Amino acid sequence: MSLKLDGKKLSLEIEERLKNYISIHKKIAKRAPGLAVIRIGEDQASGVYVNNKEKACSRVGIKSFIFHLKDNVEQKEVEKLINNLNFDRDIDGILLQLPIPKKFDEERLISLINPSKDVDGLNEINMGKLVKNEPAMRSCTPAGIINLLRSQNITIEGKKIVVIGRSLLVGKPLSLMLLNLNGTVTMTHSKTINLNKLCKEADILIVAAGKPNLVDSSFVKEGTVIIDVGIHRLKSSDKDKTRLCGDVLLEDVIPKVFAYTPVPGGVGPMTVTMLLVNTIFSWQKQFGLSSSLNDLLP
Ligand code: NAP
Repeated sequence: MSLKLDGKKLSLEIEERLKNYISIHKKIAKRAPGLAVIRIGEDQASGVYVNNKEKACSRVGIKSFIFHLKDNVEQKEVEKLINNLNFDRDIDGILLQLPIPKKFDEERLISLINPSKDVDGLNEINMGKLVKNEPAMRSCTPAGIINLLRSQNITIEGKKIVVIGRSLLVGKPLSLMLLNLNGTVTMTHSKTINLNKLCKEADILIVAAGKPNLVDSSFVKEGTVIIDVGIHRLKSSDKDKTRLCGDVLLEDVIPKVFAYTPVPGGVGPMTVTMLLVNTIFSWQKQFGLSSSLNDLLP
């Protein structure tokens, strides 16, 4: 039987560690870790994600500060807010909830975030450090995937790993993290020729294409590990209802693989957990606290 890589279960286990870490170290720091989340506009999915992050923070003892700005706010005002948060001594992490309305210069806003508070790991300084394999804030979804693999002792070193997708959010940083951990990585994208054949060679196949059910059993070899990053809400056969699915046609693939991530309950919960880890990592550095959580940082 294939092994389910249960992100929900692992995230609860990690949260327990984080909660203990905060309760022990709060006495030294004399304040809880603080996370600022900036949301611009009324994107519904963003609202759900921000709520989930707020709840996760309160479960472990991180203080969250939500800044919900109207979409008629000016770029300069958002820049000012980020600058203020950069200097705010109660804030360890700053997250700009994406996507933001198109009129904003997203790249500039991300680059303004102090790298040591850039809990999404998207700032060019942190990306550069990832390229150089130096310790830094790592982006959350890729870091969550590495932790999921490690939790089941799935070796990365020496493995042939194919990543579908080259986005700055997932595919690129993930490929670099896997390379730094001595995987032999092939990064693929929409212009890749013979994608199916390349994927079939993978010991670990990670799919972050944003295309529902792109990958079926014809893409995988027997005994592979498959990680499904995609998340989509589709209409179900009962037309009033919707259901979630990933980029992988799971029911077709599961009988063939050694291990897989479910959707939902695989990569998604780990992304939120890594945001908490990064916030605490920044707090830990600011107050010179113990490094007992460092095994969670790829
Ligand atoms: P993205 O920015 O749209 O990037 C998609 C990547 O996949 C691009 O590099 C694209 O290639 C490639 N691609 C698209 N169609 C392809 C195809 N048919 N064959 C091969 N490659 C293809 O998406 P993203 O932000 O990386 O997110 C990917 C998925 O993960 C989405 O469903 C998103 O919702 C989900 N996601 C989930 C989490 C989570 O926590 N669970 C977090 C982040 C993202 P080109 O570069 O050539 O266009």
